[in-house]
Amino acid sequence: MTANLSRTSDMLAPELVPMPMDAPDVCPLCRSGRTRVDRLCFSCERTSSQVDFPCEMVIPISYYTTPSPLRDRMHHYKEHPDPSVREEEARYVSAILARYVAQHHDLFVDRFGNWDSVVAVPSTHHPDAPALQVAVEANFPEALGPFTRPLVLGPGTMKFNQASPLGFVPRAGESLTDHRVLLVDDTFTTGARLQSAHHALVAAGAVVVVAVVVTRKINPSQQYGSDRLWERQTAQTFEFSRPPWWATAHE
Ligand SMILES: [Zn+2]
Repeated sequence: MTANLSRTSDMLAPELVPMPMDAPDVCPLCRSGRTRVDRLCFSCERTSSQVDFPCEMVIPISYYTTPSPLRDRMHHYKEHPDPSVREEEARYVSAILARYVAQHHDLFVDRFGNWDSVVAVPSTHHPDAPALQVAVEANFPEALGPFTRPLVLGPGTMKFNQASPLGFVPRAGESLTDHRVLLVDDTFTTGARLQSAHHALVAAGAVVVVAVVVTRKINPSQQYGSDRLWERQTAQTFEFSRPPWWATAHE
């Protein structure tokens, strides 16, 4: 890991909220709050049932809520009108992912196995240039990769809380058989796009080793079972060097 990556990511650590271990009020798929102990959260129940090959476990690096500095970064790196702001925020957002994967690389391989390539969930507005991939490649190419872009937008309709088995399809001529893929995305909100991408990869013969998202958007509310969870997790300090929940929670 480069000194630049450690320095940049350490600077951001105070903004990050660590993920919980498995618990009755934690959705085992996405780590957000749930109200029903033997079920997934409302979003995951819905979006994971809309595809045939759902992702069963996502690794978010941090929660974010609105408003917060992290929320602004996640939006600004893609949408800020000033290109110099987009560039700066892209460096920060990509530093979070690059540091997390570089820091825990050996734990990832032990737990999930190795991967041949990294695939970012294609963006809505720039399906040929996922913002997260562009950001990592521009700033920390040595920490993560190589990226491939095997998916394009398909004919299926994806909406905010609607995944589709045909939301993404393999690029023409792309062979994915037995490719081992690390799937990454910037923000997990309902899982609609990530589940669609996961389905498309697996349907095409790829093995998705695991999915990592920079942030899991959370709305601390009793209604979603997330208010106490948010309190518990924000009371803890995020440290990149700490072994993540998934390295110890399962066998
Ligand atoms: Zn969930």
